[in-house]
Amino acid sequence: MQPDLRITLPDDWHVHLRDDEMLEAVAGHTARRFGRAMIMPNLDPPITTVAQANDYRARVLDAAAAASGDTRPFDPKMVLYLTADLSIDDLIRGHQAGSVLAVKYYPAGATTNSASGGTSIISFKPVLEAMAEHGIPLLVHAEATSAELDIFDREAAFLETEMQPVCEELPELSVTVEHLSTAAGVALVRSYANTSGSITPHHLSCDRSDLLANGMRPHLYCKPVINSRTDRDALRAAAVSGDKRFFLGTDSAPHPLATKEAEVVRAGIFNAPYALEVVAEVFYQEGALGDLERFVSINGAVRYGFEPSDKLIRLRRRSEEEVAKDPPADLVTSEGVRVRMFGVAEANLWTIA
Ligand SMILES: [Zn+2]
Repeated sequence: MQPDLRITLPDDWHVHLRDDEMLEAVAGHTARRFGRAMIMPNLDPPITTVAQANDYRARVLDAAAAASGDTRPFDPKMVLYLTADLSIDDLIRGHQAGSVLAVKYYPAGATTNSASGGTSIISFKPVLEAMAEHGIPLLVHAEATSAELDIFDREAAFLETEMQPVCEELPELSVTVEHLSTAAGVALVRSYANTSGSITPHHLSCDRSDLLANGMRPHLYCKPVINSRTDRDALRAAAVSGDKRFFLGTDSAPHPLATKEAEVVRAGIFNAPYALEVVAEVFYQEGALGDLERFVSINGAVRYGFEPSDKLIRLRRRSEEEVAKDPPADLVTSEGVRVRMFGVAEANLWTIA
């Protein structure tokens, strides 16, 4: 008997929807599968004011409505990019009005459109103190950027030099370490009461041998980089544990195929279309489907102060006799730009409606 379950409609607590024709092409994939989504602000230029966030949210809703063909209400949650220009008054007003949910810290140079980011989180202490006072969560891309550091050690290094001091100096500040990629990240989240962690489908399902051992796989290249099998297994253990501090954030990040198959490959994996199939397969392999709903639909909503959705989705694992449905492997924008989708194999194993 193959699994057949109904769970609360999931939320995606970390997604890149981009803008313009890429936004139009990808927004429906997130809106069809998720009730809420935390929309990353690393556009070029970044979203740093509440007015920009409101405008971007309207564009996201337009693109989602045009593409999804679905009556489900989709609720994008907006985020401001932490830069030296961020106005504390604007942030607090926007948060109180419900326009902005959180603030994102990027280390300068760590990933796509992170040039506006900081060189030290604690240098933003006045903003962080105001956030702690007003209950505004800090979302962190936890990756050291020093050229001296090995790429596989960068998350752990950042946690030690940047994250721990913030957690200790500002224990009231709500912190989400995003896209956890290491056992060290899981351990940090477990050691501070006000800290939580999002985990991606690709960090749960792959390790660095998948990335590098049988030919180099540019479509598995992301930041923070997919790490060791030990790290993957620590992430799986955290995800299936039911611990309310861990929840799904896909970090779905579309890049044109031409920039993923290139001399220098852009970091990012577009997983929104099949993210739930990938995570369902991980939980199935772990014998933990009973904990799937907590990870994808409950923990994150509660963490950010929302009721879990009152809608349900059905996930059914297909029997071996059922014919493979061969879901699309690429998305094509209105301008003819192709984007490779992650999780086609799992999409052949699971039916979600
Ligand atoms: Zn991201």
